[in-house]
Amino acid sequence: MITKSHIPFLDLRKANACFEEESLAAASRVVHSGRYLHGSETEAFEQELATACDAAYAIGTSNGLDAIRLIFRAYMELGKLRKGDGVIVQANTYIASVLPLTELGLRPVLVDMEPGSMNLDWSRAASVADADRGVKAILAVHLYGNPCWHPELTPELIEKGLLIVEDNAQAIGATVSTHSPLTGARNTGALGHAAAFSFYPTKNVGALGDAGAVTTSDRRLASVVRALANYGSDRRYHNIYQGWNCRLDEMQAALLRIRLRHLPELGRERRQKAMLYHTLLCNPSLTPPQWTAGSVWHQYVVRVAAGERDRFREHMAHNGIGTDIHYATPPHRQPCYGGTLSHASLPVTDLFASECVSLPIASASFADIARVAATANDF
Ligand SMILES: *Cc1c(COP(=O)(O)O)cnc(C)c1O
Repeated sequence: MITKSHIPFLDLRKANACFEEESLAAASRVVHSGRYLHGSETEAFEQELATACDAAYAIGTSNGLDAIRLIFRAYMELGKLRKGDGVIVQANTYIASVLPLTELGLRPVLVDMEPGSMNLDWSRAASVADADRGVKAILAVHLYGNPCWHPELTPELIEKGLLIVEDNAQAIGATVSTHSPLTGARNTGALGHAAAFSFYPTKNVGALGDAGAVTTSDRRLASVVRALANYGSDRRYHNIYQGWNCRLDEMQAALLRIRLRHLPELGRERRQKAMLYHTLLCNPSLTPPQWTAGSVWHQYVVRVAAGERDRFREHMAHNGIGTDIHYATPPHRQPCYGGTLSHASLPVTDLFASECVSLPIASASFADIARVAATANDF
Protein backbone atom coordinates (compact mmCIF):
# COMPACT_ATOMS: atom_id res chain seq x y z
CA MET A 1 0.00 0.00 0.00
CA ILE A 2 1.30 3.46 -0.91
CA THR A 3 0.96 5.98 1.89
CA LYS A 4 0.03 9.30 0.41
CA SER A 5 1.60 12.51 1.60
CA HIS A 6 -0.50 15.08 3.38
CA ILE A 7 -1.75 18.08 1.37
CA PRO A 8 -2.42 20.82 3.92
CA PHE A 9 -4.98 23.48 3.08
CA LEU A 10 -2.19 26.05 3.23
CA ASP A 11 1.53 25.77 4.00
CA LEU A 12 2.93 29.29 4.35
CA ARG A 13 6.49 28.09 4.68
CA LYS A 14 6.19 26.38 1.30
CA ALA A 15 4.42 29.38 -0.24
CA ASN A 16 7.30 31.63 0.84
CA ALA A 17 10.18 29.25 0.07
CA CYS A 18 10.77 30.63 -3.43
CA PHE A 19 11.38 34.10 -1.95
CA GLU A 20 13.75 32.96 0.81
CA GLU A 21 17.05 34.20 -0.57
CA GLU A 22 15.71 37.56 -1.66
CA SER A 23 13.83 37.96 1.65
CA LEU A 24 16.93 37.34 3.73
CA ALA A 25 18.90 39.84 1.64
CA ALA A 26 16.13 42.45 1.99
CA ALA A 27 15.82 41.87 5.75
CA SER A 28 19.55 42.28 6.15
CA ARG A 29 19.43 45.52 4.13
CA VAL A 30 16.76 46.92 6.48
CA VAL A 31 18.59 45.79 9.64
CA HIS A 32 21.71 47.57 8.44
CA SER A 33 19.92 50.69 7.22
CA GLY A 34 19.19 52.03 10.71
CA ARG A 35 15.86 53.31 9.42
CA TYR A 36 12.79 51.23 10.32
CA LEU A 37 9.87 53.53 9.56
CA HIS A 38 9.29 56.31 7.00
CA GLY A 39 12.25 55.17 4.92
CA SER A 40 13.21 54.42 1.35
CA GLU A 41 11.73 50.89 1.32
CA THR A 42 8.26 52.17 2.20
CA GLU A 43 8.54 54.99 -0.31
CA ALA A 44 9.67 52.64 -3.08
CA PHE A 45 6.97 50.10 -2.21
CA GLU A 46 4.28 52.77 -2.38
CA GLN A 47 5.45 53.88 -5.81
CA GLU A 48 5.70 50.32 -7.08
CA LEU A 49 2.23 49.42 -5.79
CA ALA A 50 0.69 52.54 -7.35
CA THR A 51 2.33 51.66 -10.67
CA ALA A 52 1.28 48.00 -10.45
CA CYS A 53 -2.40 48.93 -10.19
CA ASP A 54 -2.42 52.16 -12.23
CA ALA A 55 -3.41 54.33 -9.29
CA ALA A 56 -1.87 57.77 -8.80
CA TYR A 57 -1.17 57.29 -5.07
CA ALA A 58 -0.46 54.43 -2.69
CA ILE A 59 -0.05 54.71 1.08
CA GLY A 60 1.36 51.80 3.09
CA THR A 61 -0.64 50.91 6.20
CA SER A 62 -0.38 48.62 9.21
CA ASN A 63 -2.95 46.12 7.85
CA GLY A 64 -6.04 45.78 5.66
CA LEU A 65 -8.61 46.58 8.31
CA ASP A 66 -6.81 49.86 9.03
CA ALA A 67 -6.69 50.62 5.31
CA ILE A 68 -10.50 50.41 5.13
CA ARG A 69 -10.84 52.40 8.36
CA LEU A 70 -8.52 55.14 7.01
CA ILE A 71 -10.43 55.52 3.74
CA PHE A 72 -13.82 55.94 5.40
CA ARG A 73 -12.48 58.20 8.15
CA ALA A 74 -10.79 60.35 5.48
CA TYR A 75 -14.08 60.70 3.59
CA MET A 76 -15.68 61.79 6.87
CA GLU A 77 -12.93 64.36 7.47
CA LEU A 78 -13.43 65.63 3.92
CA GLY A 79 -17.17 66.01 4.55
CA LYS A 80 -18.12 63.44 1.91
CA LEU A 81 -19.56 61.03 4.48
CA ARG A 82 -21.24 61.66 7.80
CA LYS A 83 -22.13 59.50 10.79
CA GLY A 84 -25.22 57.46 10.03
CA ASP A 85 -24.65 57.39 6.26
CA GLY A 86 -25.32 54.02 4.68
CA VAL A 87 -22.57 51.96 3.06
CA ILE A 88 -23.66 49.01 0.93
CA VAL A 89 -21.53 45.91 1.40
CA GLN A 90 -22.08 42.32 0.36
CA ALA A 91 -23.40 40.19 3.20
CA ASN A 92 -21.03 37.25 2.59
CA THR A 93 -17.83 39.23 3.10
CA TYR A 94 -15.23 38.69 5.81
CA ILE A 95 -16.07 40.61 8.99
CA ALA A 96 -13.00 42.89 8.61
CA SER A 97 -14.90 44.70 5.82
CA VAL A 98 -17.70 45.62 8.22
CA LEU A 99 -15.90 46.33 11.52
CA PRO A 100 -14.41 49.68 10.39
CA LEU A 101 -17.84 50.91 9.26
CA THR A 102 -19.60 50.26 12.55
CA GLU A 103 -16.63 51.64 14.50
CA LEU A 104 -16.88 54.93 12.60
CA GLY A 105 -20.63 55.21 13.12
CA LEU A 106 -21.43 54.50 9.48
CA ARG A 107 -24.34 52.19 8.74
CA PRO A 108 -23.49 48.96 6.90
CA VAL A 109 -26.32 48.11 4.51
CA LEU A 110 -25.86 44.41 3.88
CA VAL A 111 -26.95 43.31 0.42
CA ASP A 112 -27.28 39.66 -0.48
CA MET A 113 -24.65 38.04 -2.68
CA GLU A 114 -25.12 36.88 -6.25
CA PRO A 115 -24.62 33.09 -6.28
CA GLY A 116 -22.72 32.93 -9.59
CA SER A 117 -19.98 35.46 -8.90
CA MET A 118 -20.19 34.93 -5.09
CA ASN A 119 -19.92 38.73 -4.97
CA LEU A 120 -22.31 41.65 -4.46
CA ASP A 121 -25.57 41.36 -6.38
CA TRP A 122 -25.27 44.70 -8.20
CA SER A 123 -28.88 44.89 -9.38
CA ARG A 124 -30.04 44.40 -5.79
CA ALA A 125 -27.51 47.05 -4.69
CA ALA A 126 -28.84 49.50 -7.30
CA SER A 127 -32.42 49.11 -6.06
CA VAL A 128 -31.36 49.39 -2.41
CA ALA A 129 -29.46 52.62 -3.24
CA ASP A 130 -32.56 53.97 -5.01
CA ALA A 131 -34.85 53.15 -2.11
CA ASP A 132 -32.51 54.27 0.71
CA ARG A 133 -31.38 57.84 0.14
CA GLY A 134 -29.06 57.61 3.14
CA VAL A 135 -26.78 55.26 1.19
CA LYS A 136 -23.73 57.25 0.11
CA ALA A 137 -21.11 54.62 -0.64
CA ILE A 138 -20.54 51.03 -1.68
CA LEU A 139 -17.73 48.87 -0.34
CA ALA A 140 -17.12 46.49 -3.25
CA VAL A 141 -15.33 43.42 -1.89
CA HIS A 142 -13.39 41.49 -4.53
CA LEU A 143 -14.01 38.26 -2.66
CA TYR A 144 -11.87 35.17 -3.36
CA GLY A 145 -9.84 37.23 -5.85
CA ASN A 146 -12.81 37.79 -8.13
CA PRO A 147 -13.39 41.42 -9.19
CA CYS A 148 -16.66 42.77 -7.77
CA TRP A 149 -17.76 45.04 -10.59
CA HIS A 150 -20.69 45.36 -12.97
CA PRO A 151 -19.83 46.84 -16.38
CA GLU A 152 -23.04 48.92 -16.60
CA LEU A 153 -24.51 49.19 -13.09
CA THR A 154 -21.33 50.22 -11.23
CA PRO A 155 -20.55 53.20 -13.51
CA GLU A 156 -24.23 54.23 -13.25
CA LEU A 157 -24.02 54.24 -9.46
CA ILE A 158 -20.82 56.34 -9.63
CA GLU A 159 -22.66 58.71 -11.98
CA LYS A 160 -25.36 59.09 -9.33
CA GLY A 161 -22.73 60.31 -6.86
CA LEU A 162 -22.07 57.17 -4.83
CA LEU A 163 -18.52 56.60 -3.61
CA ILE A 164 -17.12 53.22 -4.58
CA VAL A 165 -14.48 51.89 -2.20
CA GLU A 166 -12.82 48.60 -3.12
CA ASP A 167 -11.91 46.02 -0.51
CA ASN A 168 -9.02 44.59 -2.52
CA ALA A 169 -7.61 42.49 0.33
CA GLN A 170 -8.04 39.26 -1.65
CA ALA A 171 -7.62 40.42 -5.23
CA ILE A 172 -4.32 42.22 -5.89
CA GLY A 173 -3.51 41.71 -9.59
CA ALA A 174 -7.11 40.97 -10.64
CA THR A 175 -8.51 42.73 -13.69
CA VAL A 176 -11.80 43.75 -15.24
CA SER A 177 -12.15 43.81 -19.02
CA THR A 178 -13.38 47.11 -20.47
CA HIS A 179 -14.39 45.45 -23.75
CA SER A 180 -12.34 48.05 -25.56
CA PRO A 181 -9.02 47.42 -27.31
CA LEU A 182 -8.05 51.02 -26.47
CA THR A 183 -8.42 50.83 -22.72
CA GLY A 184 -7.86 47.08 -22.33
CA ALA A 185 -8.20 45.63 -18.84
CA ARG A 186 -8.41 47.69 -15.65
CA ASN A 187 -6.90 46.62 -12.36
CA THR A 188 -8.68 46.18 -9.08
CA GLY A 189 -7.30 48.86 -6.80
CA ALA A 190 -7.95 51.51 -9.46
CA LEU A 191 -11.58 50.78 -10.39
CA GLY A 192 -13.38 52.83 -7.74
CA HIS A 193 -12.53 56.03 -5.84
CA ALA A 194 -10.20 54.33 -3.37
CA ALA A 195 -9.09 50.81 -2.50
CA ALA A 196 -7.86 48.97 0.58
CA PHE A 197 -5.27 46.18 0.38
CA SER A 198 -4.23 43.58 2.93
CA PHE A 199 -0.87 41.82 2.90
CA TYR A 200 -1.76 39.44 5.74
CA PRO A 201 0.53 36.41 5.27
CA THR A 202 -2.17 34.23 3.68
CA LYS A 203 -3.16 36.79 1.04
CA ASN A 204 -1.97 36.46 -2.58
CA VAL A 205 0.81 38.95 -1.84
CA GLY A 206 1.60 38.20 1.78
CA ALA A 207 3.96 39.97 4.17
CA LEU A 208 5.75 38.10 6.96
CA GLY A 209 3.52 39.81 9.49
CA ASP A 210 0.80 42.45 9.19
CA ALA A 211 0.72 45.03 6.41
CA GLY A 212 -1.75 46.82 4.16
CA ALA A 213 -2.16 49.77 1.81
CA VAL A 214 -4.58 52.31 0.39
CA THR A 215 -4.58 53.29 -3.28
CA THR A 216 -6.47 56.17 -4.88
CA SER A 217 -6.15 58.67 -7.67
CA ASP A 218 -7.69 61.42 -5.50
CA ARG A 219 -4.85 63.63 -4.30
CA ARG A 220 -6.80 65.15 -1.38
CA LEU A 221 -7.97 61.76 -0.15
CA ALA A 222 -4.41 60.44 -0.34
CA SER A 223 -3.04 63.26 1.78
CA VAL A 224 -5.78 62.90 4.42
CA VAL A 225 -5.21 59.13 4.61
CA ARG A 226 -1.46 59.68 4.96
CA ALA A 227 -1.95 62.20 7.75
CA LEU A 228 -4.53 60.08 9.60
CA ALA A 229 -2.19 57.08 9.52
CA ASN A 230 0.54 59.14 11.19
CA TYR A 231 -1.22 60.62 14.28
CA GLY A 232 -3.16 63.03 12.09
CA SER A 233 -0.08 65.11 11.34
CA ASP A 234 0.48 66.80 7.99
CA ARG A 235 4.02 67.74 9.00
CA ARG A 236 6.16 66.99 11.99
CA TYR A 237 4.54 67.87 15.35
CA HIS A 238 1.58 69.53 13.65
CA ASN A 239 -1.66 67.59 14.00
CA ILE A 240 -4.61 68.57 11.86
CA TYR A 241 -6.66 65.46 12.76
CA GLN A 242 -7.02 63.31 15.84
CA GLY A 243 -5.31 60.54 13.94
CA TRP A 244 -4.12 57.02 14.54
CA ASN A 245 -0.87 55.14 14.12
CA CYS A 246 -1.47 52.88 11.11
CA ARG A 247 1.93 52.88 9.44
CA LEU A 248 3.66 50.26 7.32
CA ASP A 249 7.19 49.48 8.54
CA GLU A 250 10.38 49.26 6.50
CA MET A 251 10.88 45.52 7.05
CA GLN A 252 7.47 44.54 5.68
CA ALA A 253 7.81 47.09 2.85
CA ALA A 254 11.13 45.55 1.78
CA LEU A 255 9.69 42.02 1.91
CA LEU A 256 6.59 43.09 0.00
CA ARG A 257 8.59 44.71 -2.80
CA ILE A 258 10.02 41.29 -3.67
CA ARG A 259 6.60 39.66 -3.84
CA LEU A 260 5.13 42.57 -5.76
CA ARG A 261 7.78 42.15 -8.46
CA HIS A 262 6.45 38.63 -9.00
CA LEU A 263 2.79 39.69 -9.13
CA PRO A 264 2.16 38.70 -12.77
CA GLU A 265 3.57 35.16 -12.26
CA LEU A 266 1.71 34.74 -8.97
CA GLY A 267 -1.56 35.60 -10.71
CA ARG A 268 -0.81 33.38 -13.70
CA GLU A 269 -0.03 30.41 -11.48
CA ARG A 270 -3.26 30.80 -9.51
CA ARG A 271 -5.25 30.97 -12.75
CA GLN A 272 -3.59 27.81 -14.06
CA LYS A 273 -4.34 25.99 -10.81
CA ALA A 274 -7.97 27.12 -10.84
CA MET A 275 -8.24 26.06 -14.48
CA LEU A 276 -6.89 22.63 -13.57
CA TYR A 277 -9.61 22.25 -10.91
CA HIS A 278 -12.17 23.36 -13.47
CA THR A 279 -11.00 20.80 -15.99
CA LEU A 280 -10.81 17.92 -13.54
CA LEU A 281 -13.73 18.35 -11.13
CA CYS A 282 -16.72 16.34 -12.31
CA ASN A 283 -18.69 15.24 -9.25
CA PRO A 284 -22.38 16.17 -9.54
CA SER A 285 -22.52 16.69 -5.74
CA LEU A 286 -20.02 19.56 -6.05
CA THR A 287 -20.66 22.92 -7.72
CA PRO A 288 -17.39 24.55 -8.83
CA PRO A 289 -17.17 28.35 -8.90
CA GLN A 290 -18.08 30.24 -12.05
CA TRP A 291 -15.03 30.82 -14.24
CA THR A 292 -13.90 34.47 -14.35
CA ALA A 293 -10.95 35.34 -16.54
CA GLY A 294 -9.78 38.35 -14.48
CA SER A 295 -9.86 36.58 -11.09
CA VAL A 296 -6.65 35.86 -9.18
CA TRP A 297 -8.28 32.97 -7.29
CA HIS A 298 -7.35 33.86 -3.73
CA GLN A 299 -9.61 30.95 -2.78
CA TYR A 300 -11.08 28.17 -4.88
CA VAL A 301 -14.52 27.74 -3.35
CA VAL A 302 -16.89 24.92 -4.28
CA ARG A 303 -20.38 24.27 -2.99
CA VAL A 304 -21.52 21.01 -1.43
CA ALA A 305 -25.13 20.42 -0.34
CA ALA A 306 -25.36 21.67 3.27
CA GLY A 307 -26.10 18.29 4.84
CA GLU A 308 -23.10 16.79 3.02
CA ARG A 309 -20.40 19.33 3.81
CA ASP A 310 -19.06 17.74 6.99
CA ARG A 311 -19.01 14.33 5.34
CA PHE A 312 -17.18 15.80 2.31
CA ARG A 313 -14.53 17.42 4.51
CA GLU A 314 -14.08 14.18 6.45
CA HIS A 315 -13.67 12.26 3.19
CA MET A 316 -10.97 14.71 2.09
CA ALA A 317 -9.25 14.67 5.52
CA HIS A 318 -9.33 10.86 5.54
CA ASN A 319 -7.36 11.03 2.26
CA GLY A 320 -4.84 13.47 3.72
CA ILE A 321 -6.30 16.65 2.22
CA GLY A 322 -6.98 19.80 4.23
CA THR A 323 -9.95 22.03 3.37
CA ASP A 324 -11.29 25.20 4.95
CA ILE A 325 -14.48 27.29 5.04
CA HIS A 326 -14.66 30.96 4.02
CA TYR A 327 -16.83 31.81 5.90
CA ALA A 328 -19.09 29.65 8.03
CA THR A 329 -20.59 32.58 9.96
CA PRO A 330 -21.33 35.76 7.99
CA PRO A 331 -20.95 39.12 9.78
CA HIS A 332 -24.69 39.55 10.46
CA ARG A 333 -24.66 36.31 12.49
CA GLN A 334 -21.55 37.14 14.55
CA PRO A 335 -22.20 37.49 18.28
CA CYS A 336 -20.49 40.92 18.43
CA TYR A 337 -23.42 42.41 16.52
CA GLY A 338 -26.10 40.59 18.52
CA GLY A 339 -28.40 40.36 15.51
CA THR A 340 -28.50 44.17 15.02
CA LEU A 341 -26.44 44.38 11.84
CA SER A 342 -29.15 43.61 9.33
CA HIS A 343 -32.89 43.77 9.34
CA ALA A 344 -33.12 42.34 5.85
CA SER A 345 -33.25 38.63 5.25
CA LEU A 346 -30.14 37.35 3.46
CA PRO A 347 -31.14 33.88 2.23
CA VAL A 348 -28.50 33.49 -0.50
CA THR A 349 -25.69 34.38 1.92
CA ASP A 350 -27.06 32.13 4.66
CA LEU A 351 -27.39 29.14 2.34
CA PHE A 352 -23.94 29.77 0.85
CA ALA A 353 -22.37 29.90 4.34
CA SER A 354 -23.69 26.38 4.97
CA GLU A 355 -22.46 24.98 1.63
CA CYS A 356 -19.08 26.56 0.79
CA VAL A 357 -15.79 24.68 1.04
CA SER A 358 -12.36 26.01 0.00
CA LEU A 359 -9.94 23.56 -1.64
CA PRO A 360 -6.14 23.94 -1.34
CA ILE A 361 -4.69 26.30 -3.94
CA ALA A 362 -2.00 28.67 -2.60
CA SER A 363 0.71 26.18 -1.67
CA ALA A 364 -0.60 23.15 -3.60
CA SER A 365 1.42 21.99 -6.61
CA PHE A 366 -0.26 21.04 -9.89
CA ALA A 367 0.18 17.37 -8.92
CA ASP A 368 -1.44 18.09 -5.54
CA ILE A 369 -4.39 19.74 -7.28
CA ALA A 370 -4.85 16.73 -9.55
CA ARG A 371 -4.97 14.51 -6.45
CA VAL A 372 -7.36 16.85 -4.61
CA ALA A 373 -9.68 16.87 -7.63
CA ALA A 374 -9.56 13.08 -8.03
CA THR A 375 -10.31 12.63 -4.32
CA ALA A 376 -13.19 15.13 -4.54
CA ASN A 377 -14.56 13.28 -7.56
CA ASP A 378 -14.53 10.04 -5.52
CA PHE A 379 -16.84 11.53 -2.91
C1 LIG B 1 -7.93 39.94 5.12
C2 LIG B 1 -9.09 40.79 4.81
C3 LIG B 1 -9.28 42.03 5.43
C4 LIG B 1 -8.44 42.52 6.58
O1 LIG B 1 -7.10 42.58 6.34
P1 LIG B 1 -6.06 42.47 7.58
O2 LIG B 1 -4.76 42.81 6.94
O3 LIG B 1 -6.14 41.08 8.08
O4 LIG B 1 -6.49 43.48 8.58
C5 LIG B 1 -10.34 42.81 5.01
N1 LIG B 1 -11.19 42.38 4.06
C6 LIG B 1 -11.05 41.19 3.47
C7 LIG B 1 -12.02 40.79 2.41
C8 LIG B 1 -10.01 40.34 3.83
O5 LIG B 1 -9.90 39.15 3.25
